Amino acid sequence: MSVDIEDWFHLLETPIGSDVEGWRQLPSRMEDPVRRIIALLQSTGRRATFYVVGWVAKEHPEIIQLIDEAGFEVACQSMNHTLVSGMTEREFYEDTRVAIDTIEQKVGKKVISYRAPGFSIIERTAFVWPIMVDLGIERDSSLFLPKSGHGGVRKLPALKPFKIEVSGKVIKEYPIVPFYKAGIQIPFAGGGYFRLFPYVAMNFFSKSSDYLMAYIHPRDLDYEQPKIEELNLLRMFKSYYGLKSAENKYQRWLSDYNFCDIDGFDQSYDWSKAPVFNYLDLW
Ligand SMILES: [Zn+2]
Repeated sequence: MSVDIEDWFHLLETPIGSDVEGWRQLPSRMEDPVRRIIALLQSTGRRATFYVVGWVAKEHPEIIQLIDEAGFEVACQSMNHTLVSGMTEREFYEDTRVAIDTIEQKVGKKVISYRAPGFSIIERTAFVWPIMVDLGIERDSSLFLPKSGHGGVRKLPALKPFKIEVSGKVIKEYPIVPFYKAGIQIPFAGGGYFRLFPYVAMNFFSKSSDYLMAYIHPRDLDYEQPKIEELNLLRMFKSYYGLKSAENKYQRWLSDYNFCDIDGFDQSYDWSKAPVFNYLDLW
């Protein structure tokens, strides 16, 4: 289980979501849903890895503190929630370096896990892997199958965690995989997909998965959040459908499946048998 820590206005490829300077003027709505997510994890005895946007660490350190004090891993999800697929190599280096520094300063611990906003590490962004190694990242969870809204890839070298070899060093990859059967791929494991499907479908997809990396955002559990009017109908639907029933569904999901964080997963996964791919040969 993972939690992507960002606010209600951090919607990719929207004017409000790109207006970093304007964000300070907007009311933050993360604290209440973050507290509820932590409480649900604790009451069900589950664990999660929290991928935090660097801007949140800088402007709302109290949120990071809540997560850290509850004993959960604070990982990195970029500085300003910008698509990696639109960045140059230099921009990715700077964004990731500043994000990691900012989060490490607030938490006082080394950041070793990364996720790209909108799962935007794609086939042509091979430059990210050596940079991650340089910056001390050891585990990535940015690859999403299939192609979707803002990122995702057409195929994955493996449908379970694998190693990416980068000039003698290794990054462990924890991809987000869909339900797949007879050529159909149905993403379901988090965010808008999680809100869309009724629990009976979520349960079926989850039960059918050998490996499941789930993700949720605080705004997925915030049905009173301001609705951003400038979204088109499809984005409106994707962003706000199913908010009211999300918390109950999330609680059932957490109760029914033994979700763990990345550390917990590593304890039971035989990494010595995991597939290995060079970062230049992923596709
Ligand atoms: Zn995000």
